[in-house]
Amino acid sequence: RIILGIESSCDETGVGLVRLHDDGTVELLADEVASSVEQHARFGGVVPEVASRAHLEAMVPTAERAFATAGLGLSDVDAIAVTAGPGLAGALLVGVSAAKAYAAALDVPLYGVNHLAGHIAVDTLQHGPLPEPCLALLVSGGHTQLLRVDDIAGGITEIGSTVDDAAGEAYDKVARVLGLPYPGGPPIDKAAKEGNPAAIDFPRGMTGPRDAKFDFSFSGLKTAVARWVENAERRGEDIPVNDVAASFQEAVADVLTAKAVRAATEMGIGTLVISGGVAANSRLAGLARDRCAAAGIEVRVPRPRLCTDNGAMIAALGAHVVAAGRKPSALDLSANPALPVEIVSLEA
Ligand code: ATP
Ligand code: MG
Ligand code: FE
Repeated sequence: RIILGIESSCDETGVGLVRLHDDGTVELLADEVASSVEQHARFGGVVPEVASRAHLEAMVPTAERAFATAGLGLSDVDAIAVTAGPGLAGALLVGVSAAKAYAAALDVPLYGVNHLAGHIAVDTLQHGPLPEPCLALLVSGGHTQLLRVDDIAGGITEIGSTVDDAAGEAYDKVARVLGLPYPGGPPIDKAAKEGNPAAIDFPRGMTGPRDAKFDFSFSGLKTAVARWVENAERRGEDIPVNDVAASFQEAVADVLTAKAVRAATEMGIGTLVISGGVAANSRLAGLARDRCAAAGIEVRVPRPRLCTDNGAMIAALGAHVVAAGRKPSALDLSANPALPVEIVSLEA
C-alpha cells in the first residue's frame, strides 16, 4: 500500500511517499521539502503569516515533485496522512486542507497524525521496525521530551520534558548572541568543531539532587552564555566564538544524554531513539553513542535529513497507523495547534 504524507506545521512544506509492505516494514519512495526558512532568517524566528503563505504556494509543486521522484501517480495512493498538530495554526491548516482535498478527490482514507510521533516514526525508514518498548529523546525547535514508546501507532507516554526553553530554541537564541545566522543549530555545530568544549564550564540545568529526574531546563544555560559574552565584551575582549559554541553544545549534549541513559537504565529499556531537528547535532549523536555503548543500550539516530521536518516522517507514521488498523479521521478533521504527544492519530 502507498501512503502519502503531508507536513506543514512550521516552516517546511514536506510531501513524502512510502510503501507499506505486508510484513509491516515501510519503504521510503520520495521525500520532497520546500522551506521558507530564508524568509524568516532576518526576523530571527518563524513569522506565522509568512510561513502559511509559503505553504500555500509550495504545497502543490512539492507534491508534484514527490510523485515524479517516486514514479507514481495520484491514483496509486491508498491512504493519506497529514500533520494535524502540534504547530502553527495557520500553517497546519494549509496541509490539512490540502490533505482533505486529495482524500476527497481520490476517495481514500485520511489520517490526521501527530508531528512529534512522526519525528520518532521516521527512524523506521532508515533502521527498520522499532523495538517496543523503546525510549525516545525528542529534541526539536519547539519540544524537548523523553517519551516511552510502547506502540508507535498509539502508545506513547511522556516521562519528562523541558520546563522552559526547548533545546533547539536554546541553539537559536545562543546563535543570535554569538552573531551566527538563524536557525542556530547548524552554524553552532560547525563552529563547535573548531572550539574547545571544556573552555567554559556552563551550567547543567535540572541536574541537582532535588530536580525532577527526567525534566530539562535550558533557559539558565542560555542566560549564562549571554552573560558570559556580555562580560567579555565589556572587558573589550574578542569573543572566542568557537569555544563558546563548543562549551554550550557540550552542556546541552551532556544533560540530554545523561538523562536519557538514566531513564532507559531505570526503566529497563534497551533502545534509545533520538529524533527531531536537534538530533542532527553531531556532538549529541556522538556522546549518546559513547554513553549508550557503555550502558549496553542500542542507540538509533536518523540521518540529519530525516531529523528536521519533512513529509516522509508523516507518511511513515501514517503507514504504522494504517498497519495497526486505526480508524481514519473524519473528513471534517481540523488542526490542533496544541495536540499532545499521547494522541498519535485523530480517529473519527
Ligand atoms: P517541533 O518539531 O517541536 O514542532 P520544529 O519542527 O520547528 O519544532 P525541527 O524542524 O524538528 O523543529 O527542528 C528545528 C530545530 O533544530 C532548530 O531549532 C534548529 O536550530 C535545530 N537544529 C537543526 N540542525 C541542528 C544541529 N546540527 N545541531 C543542533 N540543532 C540543530
Ligand atoms: Mg524548520
Ligand atoms: Fe519538527
